[in-house]
Amino acid sequence: MTANEIIYLDNNATTQLDPAVIEEMLPFLTKYYGNPSSGYSFAATARKAINLARERLAALLGCEPMEIVFTSGGTESDSAAINSARQFSARGQHVITSAVEHSAVLRPCQDLAKRGCTVTFLGVDRHGNLDLGELQAAIRPETALVSIMWANNETGVLFPIEKIAEICSEKDLLFHTDAVQATGKIPMRLRDTAINFLSLSAHKFHGPKGVGALYVSRGARFNPLIAGGGQENARRGGTENVASIVGLGKAAELALKYLAEGKCSIGSMRDRFEKSVLEIVGGAAVNGEGAARLSNTSSLSFEGIESPAALLLLDRQGICCSAGSACRTGSQEASHVLRAMNPNADGARRSLRFSLGRFNTDAEIDRVMGVVPKVIEKLRQSAVRTHVTTAP
Ligand code: PLP
Repeated sequence: MTANEIIYLDNNATTQLDPAVIEEMLPFLTKYYGNPSSGYSFAATARKAINLARERLAALLGCEPMEIVFTSGGTESDSAAINSARQFSARGQHVITSAVEHSAVLRPCQDLAKRGCTVTFLGVDRHGNLDLGELQAAIRPETALVSIMWANNETGVLFPIEKIAEICSEKDLLFHTDAVQATGKIPMRLRDTAINFLSLSAHKFHGPKGVGALYVSRGARFNPLIAGGGQENARRGGTENVASIVGLGKAAELALKYLAEGKCSIGSMRDRFEKSVLEIVGGAAVNGEGAARLSNTSSLSFEGIESPAALLLLDRQGICCSAGSACRTGSQEASHVLRAMNPNADGARRSLRFSLGRFNTDAEIDRVMGVVPKVIEKLRQSAVRTHVTTAP
């Protein structure tokens, strides 16, 4: 199957580069290779391009350009925020996060716990919602940081981040949000919020892989994770990844244009897909149905199937989707997000995540709507046959 024949519905794992992003990046991989820190005018082209990217990203986030620190992606931004906040807080050694964060937040928090910090992992209800009363009750005099994701990568469930940031600000606590899945998909005006740190990653909104940013609000103290030269206003050492930063800036500009036009049909394609699958396939349910969700994400559970077998059959039809986070593909462990939402059920082992992007078409969705019910039916029949032949 060629790349042109596949139907790509795994946009929460990564997205296709927008051709306009590639075009903008190319001169910085070929002609303008100067080090942005060098003094001669040839290098100034690279320096100016980074400044433009910073302005474009600031426009998407609704913040000041100087509040942006370019990084190698979402994982680095998360680690930088978590480590920095903990080092600076005079309050002590307690961090609050949620049980459904991406491993880029969970792992650094677990590492903090191993190094003597106390970490509270807030649970969610069966829709994937947080209880803000529980969050407030978890805050202690020694709490240093609260880190809660904006949108969940597996279910698309959105948390009320502005409200959570307010709660933290009232208690004089630092607040970080992993907005890797939310950036470019929902409008943001960070200057009107009490968020101190926000992580994002270009490859989730049609930019290149290996580049991202950390928003550090004006006035929030920040200790770099990567020390070195004085790049990024001494907040992230290392020669800048110029072409990728340029690509991130262009991707941000395009995302803002699509958000402003409000013409994007992703939400209606997702709704049409979900409605059709739920109507045709019995024993199917939407994970996070009772919560506010990103309009591109559909996480569905199907009775009587195992997700790996479904993924294999869909792959044979050229359909790319996933069982949950791309980082866990190949692991036998069921999704920690779906288990947190429903600890007593086996939904985590029989769910599929379809995530749409702006290059998907109605024709592709029509084809997937035809294939998915057949795949589920086939798996259920083979499960029945296996059961009959193995019955004593
Ligand atoms: N946070 C979330 C919510 C994600 O979905 C991802 C990637 O899947 C990351 C962090 C990590 O981002 P990156 O791949 O840029 O390191």
